[in-house]
Amino acid sequence: MSLPAHAQIVVIGGGIIGCSTAYHLARDHKAEVVLLEQGKLTGGSTWHAAGLVGQLRSSASITQVLKYSVDLYKRLKDETGLETGWKMTGCLRLACNEDRWIEYKRLATTARSFGMEMHLLSPKEAKAMWPLMQVDDLVGATFLPTDGQASPSDITQSLAKGARMAGAKILEGVRVTGFTMDGDRITAVNTTEGSIACDKVINCAGQWARQVGAMAGINVPLQPVKHQYIITEKIDGLTADTATVRDPDRFTYFKEEVGGLVMGGYERDPIAWTTGDVPDDFEFQLFDDDWDHFEQHMVQAIARVPALEKTGVKQMINGPESFTPDGNFILGSAPECANMFVGAGFNAFGIAAGGGAGWVLAEWAIKGEAPMDLWVVDIRRFSGLHKDRDWVCERTLEAYGKHYTIGFPHEEYGSGRPRIVSPLYERLKAHGGVFGSKLGWERPNWFAPEGMEARDVYSMGRQNWFAPVGDEHQAVREAVGLFDQSSFAKYEMTGRDAARALDWICANDVSKPAGRLTYTQLLNSRGGIECDLTVARLAEDHFYIVTGTGFRTHDAAWIVDHVPSGLDVSLVDVTEDWGTLSLMGPKARDVLSSVTEADVSNAGFRFGHVRVIDIDGHEVRALRVTYVGELGWELHVPLEATGEVFDCLMAAGSPHGIRPVGYRALESLRLEKGYRAWGSDITPNDSPFEAGLGWAVKLKKNTDFMGREAAQRTAGAPLKKKLAGFTVDDPDVVLLGRETILRDGEFAGYLTIGGFGYSIGQSIGYGYVRHADGVSDAWLRDGVYELVVAMQRVPARLHLEALYDPTAARVKL
Ligand SMILES: Cc1cc2nc3c(=O)[nH]c(=O)nc-3n(C[C@H](O)[C@H](O)[C@H](O)COP(=O)(O)OP(=O)(O)OC[C@H]3O[C@@H](n4cnc5c(N)ncnc54)[C@H](O)[C@@H]3O)c2cc1C
Repeated sequence: MSLPAHAQIVVIGGGIIGCSTAYHLARDHKAEVVLLEQGKLTGGSTWHAAGLVGQLRSSASITQVLKYSVDLYKRLKDETGLETGWKMTGCLRLACNEDRWIEYKRLATTARSFGMEMHLLSPKEAKAMWPLMQVDDLVGATFLPTDGQASPSDITQSLAKGARMAGAKILEGVRVTGFTMDGDRITAVNTTEGSIACDKVINCAGQWARQVGAMAGINVPLQPVKHQYIITEKIDGLTADTATVRDPDRFTYFKEEVGGLVMGGYERDPIAWTTGDVPDDFEFQLFDDDWDHFEQHMVQAIARVPALEKTGVKQMINGPESFTPDGNFILGSAPECANMFVGAGFNAFGIAAGGGAGWVLAEWAIKGEAPMDLWVVDIRRFSGLHKDRDWVCERTLEAYGKHYTIGFPHEEYGSGRPRIVSPLYERLKAHGGVFGSKLGWERPNWFAPEGMEARDVYSMGRQNWFAPVGDEHQAVREAVGLFDQSSFAKYEMTGRDAARALDWICANDVSKPAGRLTYTQLLNSRGGIECDLTVARLAEDHFYIVTGTGFRTHDAAWIVDHVPSGLDVSLVDVTEDWGTLSLMGPKARDVLSSVTEADVSNAGFRFGHVRVIDIDGHEVRALRVTYVGELGWELHVPLEATGEVFDCLMAAGSPHGIRPVGYRALESLRLEKGYRAWGSDITPNDSPFEAGLGWAVKLKKNTDFMGREAAQRTAGAPLKKKLAGFTVDDPDVVLLGRETILRDGEFAGYLTIGGFGYSIGQSIGYGYVRHADGVSDAWLRDGVYELVVAMQRVPARLHLEALYDPTAARVKL
């Protein structure tokens, strides 16, 4: 087949992801698609995958994507006539210690929250299901009956056939060599066989996606890592419906294959392949067997399945797979290019994810908007930091090495740190600061008091920082605290049409006079919340926009993508120009008034205002806002002056008991006040009305804005879900998010977030309570609630208002 002159969409890569994307584009959207594969279909990573298909992840949306894959693999043969090899064998997960067992009980609760059954089994029950296994060291096991296995190459060929049947053109032996660009837009894909003009490109080039992306100036931060498994001779006692097994405490997994076992693992000391370009001709190729490195898995696997000791190995597979710095795959619209989408970096679950990833990627490319909350896999979660290949490699190897370790709550990565530090880093360290990292920034999580080691000690219950964070929390409630929030992402929007642009993008009314602040959401066309940020109007045509550290790339890209064309507007990222000190607490005014001549009285500097004030000879942008529910200011200080201003505030605050406060106390404070966090409590799946933020939507104003139509529909209709707060009386109950909400004993949703409120002395959770017939406040208040926490039902109380109200000078319970 010859190369067509034009295609609506060119998909690059004929692995499972490219074929699934082409299939969905052609079948569901009738798009005119051309898929280009440099070698033969499946010749990259797909052909040598082991074929385990698991579905449960910690994100509800990604679990939905993986469930979709399973549904597709079940039915695809009826459509295309080609088998996928799908077998619903179920999956056993083994626990060898108490911490793992708690992790599994939480996982089983998450499964129920996401609509799946996961059973808890005794070692004896696990043995009955898998007699070849030795279970003396087991505390228990879980069983997820709807997981299974499939044949990676068969699925891919079946998807390719389905795509062709729907009109897609699939061309093998055609290598993409570059792009013709018009500014940041691809106008043609150049190949070894000529060029194709096109509207959009989807980069599904597997471990080559990084170099293919670079040809269009985009960064796809993935790292090929060597991953090995063996296939054994037949073993008596295995049948075609034998469950797959994950044995993370022994770092290994098993799957039945033609009467023998596939056995592989995730070692703590993985081996990266190249940090340079992957050779183009690495097709249907493997690395040499590395028995020395694999021995660690062999030893553990024999201890689990003693029959392996006497079983021959038919083949070892040592193949490259793309892994990423946070263990999640990479999807969506590349911020550096107007029309390239990416689906890559599948971290050894590309077969499990393939069907669903192709489905959502096709929707995304066609509609220009992710069809659901895909933030955890969104390519816009990365930043300039991720262009550093060595850093990406180091962090990726750490993530790979942690694939099977116990996932303790609040765990931080250790590699590649410190990377970006605020000017206060050394000062905060001297105060006992224990840091976490977010998008490369070191941020103080908490401060170890004298006599305490300044490091996190992880556990499944309350961790070592619990009490010190409580002290920090109380300092903010009773006196004053100083937060280093210099990592906040900050942009300046200027230009004649800046106000018009923001008026269109923002759901709240930002067209206030200079000197005013607006807290606003940015909505997608479904009325879901895409961004949650503060806009300060500094002058008629000059706006200062502040958002969360992690959303730096995402929010800038959303804004730029949605500014109506033809407007005179410019958006500049000024994150590194400004340090941010948040001075919060009832004594904040006393401290601030002693370091500035400016009038910071309530009448002179009201809530929701921004002023430039002088502190210690430096011009500081002071924003009167709060995320902790106390009097306070966010002080945006020229970066180079941040240290001096910090010292000045600390000295002035000393008589008032000022102290530096970290992010864990911030979280506790904001949970008590019910402030929402984007990515957990509010996401593209949720409308402001469902989130209790309807007051911030300018429906009463007669201006059109992005998402207005959908917002209007939601505002007028009974809600099907509503965000509510919950507390539990037992202070030992640890809430982390994803716990199931029961109303009158029936499933009613799950927590999006969990934490602890030190002023109220209780665990706090927030979650959407769902009801198909409508969720009114009266209906919500009418219910009796429980939370399921690690499979235990715990009585809970529902709250529709803030749990802590400083103005009422009392705790509301
Ligand atoms: C040993 C091993 C075991 C695994 N086991 C499992 C498992 O049990 N379960 C699971 O879910 N996943 C597993 N995986 C992961 C799985 O194989 C991958 O996630 C998946 O195959 C990735 O598919 P892909 O389409 O992204 O990449 P690929 O299959 O690599 O496809 C990318 C394609 O792009 C083509 N391409 C690249 N550059 C160009 C260019 N310039 N022009 C044209 N074409 C180009 C390549 O030739 C290649 O065919 C395993 C991986 C390994 C290595």
